[in-house]
Amino acid sequence: MKHHILIAGGGIGGMTAALALIARGHNVDIYEQAPELKEFGAGVQISPNGTRALHSLGVFEDLQKLSCNTVGKEVRLWNTGRTWKLFDLGNEAIERYGFPYVTVFRPDLLQVLVDAVRARKPDAIHLGRRAVGVTQRDGRVKLALEDGETVEGDALIGADGVHSRIRHSLFGGDSPRFFGMIAWRGVIPSERVPAAISRDKATNWIGVGGHVVHYPLRAGKLMNFVGIMERSHWRVEGWNVEGTTQECANDHKGWHADVQSLIAAAPRLFKWALMGRDPMQQWSVGHVTLLGDACHPTLPMLAQGAVMAIEDAVILSRCFDKYGDVATTFTRYQDARIAVTARKVAGANDNAERFHNPALANEAGAAAYVDREWSRDAVIRRYEWIFQYDVDTVPI
Ligand SMILES: Cc1cc2nc3c(=O)[nH]c(=O)nc-3n(C[C@H](O)[C@H](O)[C@H](O)COP(=O)(O)OP(=O)(O)OC[C@H]3O[C@@H](n4cnc5c(N)ncnc54)[C@H](O)[C@@H]3O)c2cc1C
Repeated sequence: MKHHILIAGGGIGGMTAALALIARGHNVDIYEQAPELKEFGAGVQISPNGTRALHSLGVFEDLQKLSCNTVGKEVRLWNTGRTWKLFDLGNEAIERYGFPYVTVFRPDLLQVLVDAVRARKPDAIHLGRRAVGVTQRDGRVKLALEDGETVEGDALIGADGVHSRIRHSLFGGDSPRFFGMIAWRGVIPSERVPAAISRDKATNWIGVGGHVVHYPLRAGKLMNFVGIMERSHWRVEGWNVEGTTQECANDHKGWHADVQSLIAAAPRLFKWALMGRDPMQQWSVGHVTLLGDACHPTLPMLAQGAVMAIEDAVILSRCFDKYGDVATTFTRYQDARIAVTARKVAGANDNAERFHNPALANEAGAAAYVDREWSRDAVIRRYEWIFQYDVDTVPI
């Protein structure tokens, strides 16, 4: 049974859902609030479970040309710079999981998805169309748009991010919670990256009350910088605001010279409030469901937010194939995804404590802590089940 499916939100989750559903023969229309398609210029790590899902959607090969196969991940101590190997990402990931762990410039990922959607349905994406609410009756949904128009379909997917209007329409209630952390984000052209910084690895600097991540993007032409600091006093004026080099340097006071030199090299730095919610017990009501950050926003410490949205999309499309009827499909999709996403959100919360731990204050305490928390066994225990998740074969 093929349906006319509306999607609110054309981010990574909405686009991937559109692609997965169009590929299975559904008629899809995406309503995106932004007047042009523009991802935030930052990096995103896609672990093997994510690259496997993108391969299943037929877009991984295009993305791979624009991504980086980082050879490994390392941990460094915030003040002394002492380095520990975390895990191999290159050949070992391929041998172990069948797919690589890649780092990608977000606009490149979105463009690959948009091109693939438009190749299959040229007029699927409707820009400058902000969703404001949804009603449903007799197996039909009506999506109200801010410009006053109402569009109708058989089903609606709310992929409209952490501030989701669709979630609010279905369940009412709360605003997302500020986690008390801000993320500084910048992208540095490789010619400005200081020589001391590793260019082929992803690096996690860990320290008391904060951590820093950097990794290469766009076949090594860019370097992504993220500095996450606990700042409960920060007033959240915007979801993403440009800051100054000095402010960012102040927030990383006492951190190693390599971190300082990366901050100094960044042409622009943005600060984001990290927002989230407690895991939801229900995502679907009748012919409307949620996907991605709209239903399971997460701290970024496990690097799984976008990957979860991509996985949701493939599982949802498989459920349509298997069950046909919209309400059953949405219930089964929710059943297949709710526990696994909640486990990842909890894993990201645990990593926040791990990355920002008081034991990291000095090198003596840090060495014992890192040896325990990042031992090969501990790392495999934390990540193996995530990387092995196969969207094409997990039971639905
Ligand atoms: C610092 C940081 C680092 C991260 N690193 C990683 C990483 O390495 N790996 C990873 O997997 N994840 C990472 N994430 C998480 C990832 O960015 C998100 O989980 C992901 O973007 C969620 O995608 P989404 O499509 O669900 O939501 P969004 O990306 O928020 O997209 C929602 C879309 O809906 C649109 N929209 C919103 N409201 C409306 C409306 N009312 N009507 C119509 N359209 C609307 C928005 O304009 C947007 O285009 C990171 C996040 C942060 C903050």
